[in-house]
Amino acid sequence: MKKNLFSFGLLTSLVALSQLSNAQESDGATPRLEQVSESVFRTVHRPGAANSNVIVTDEGLIVVDGTCRGAGDPTWLKQELGRLYDVPVKYVILSHDHEDHICDLHVFDDTAVTVSHALTRQHIVREGRNTSVPDVVFDEEMEIHLGGKKIVLYYFGPTHSNNLIQVHLPEEGVLIAPDIARAERSLALPDFRDADIDNLIETLGVLGKLDDVEIVIPGHWGATNQESLLEYRDYVVALRDRVLEEMMAGATIEQILERVTMDDFSDYGNIDIWLRSNLISMWDKMYRYREPNRDGPGGEDSGGEYQDAYPIGFSVGDSGAGSNQ
Ligand SMILES: [Zn+2]
Repeated sequence: MKKNLFSFGLLTSLVALSQLSNAQESDGATPRLEQVSESVFRTVHRPGAANSNVIVTDEGLIVVDGTCRGAGDPTWLKQELGRLYDVPVKYVILSHDHEDHICDLHVFDDTAVTVSHALTRQHIVREGRNTSVPDVVFDEEMEIHLGGKKIVLYYFGPTHSNNLIQVHLPEEGVLIAPDIARAERSLALPDFRDADIDNLIETLGVLGKLDDVEIVIPGHWGATNQESLLEYRDYVVALRDRVLEEMMAGATIEQILERVTMDDFSDYGNIDIWLRSNLISMWDKMYRYREPNRDGPGGEDSGGEYQDAYPIGFSVGDSGAGSNQ
């Protein structure tokens, strides 16, 4: 069935291998499939493009996500899979509705059943996304069995978006977790505009301890490990607490942008271009979350008056070139 099978040993060495090739991701001109585990491959092409992953079985292929932002788009992937394998794509799994992760996946509609969370389908239909409209949806958990492989889909509630799922191959220790893990060169998220902060933090803790996970494939860049989920949780918790603390002391958003520098997380990729939008969107979440004392810091008698000063039209996004998550 498989015309080009590599054989690898320990899963830990797979991560090392994957990180090695991740470091070589900069050429981007010629898309290719990078092997992550026995059955899982990741499309490598434009640096930072959303990951498109393929699960290979004897009875068919499963595509998890796709992107139009780069040469390794679904049209290329379909051609490449046809060249490498003599079994069709049976399933397309959409991790969430964000356009850069699912663009053009309708090219597999001739052979594949498209699967997503129920809310993903609603967003796709409402926004007219350029992708395959899901045929099968689920609410909490779903299993796909194909060619002797078991694939488990999880939904832990609203996190990065209200419809993000994770794709787990427990027998190979692989968790495909787009836009929720700290990737090697990425903070994980440019902003929190579509996020549920508290449940995001809780879910990162659950995923960080999930059994049978050796390799985590994030939404962008190469494979990492479970620790990246906990590292991202640490960042989100610190950001939330520091922004909230400043707000309770009466700080304005402008003061928060100056004071909350997150220096202890300066080695997180993209923090230089995304901290501003992280801060503003976290501040916006906290603004909606709390009701301050009228005569306390920030209340009407203190001169803070932030309740009356919500800056409608304040630019939330200035995320630079990498703001594609
Ligand atoms: Zn996303």
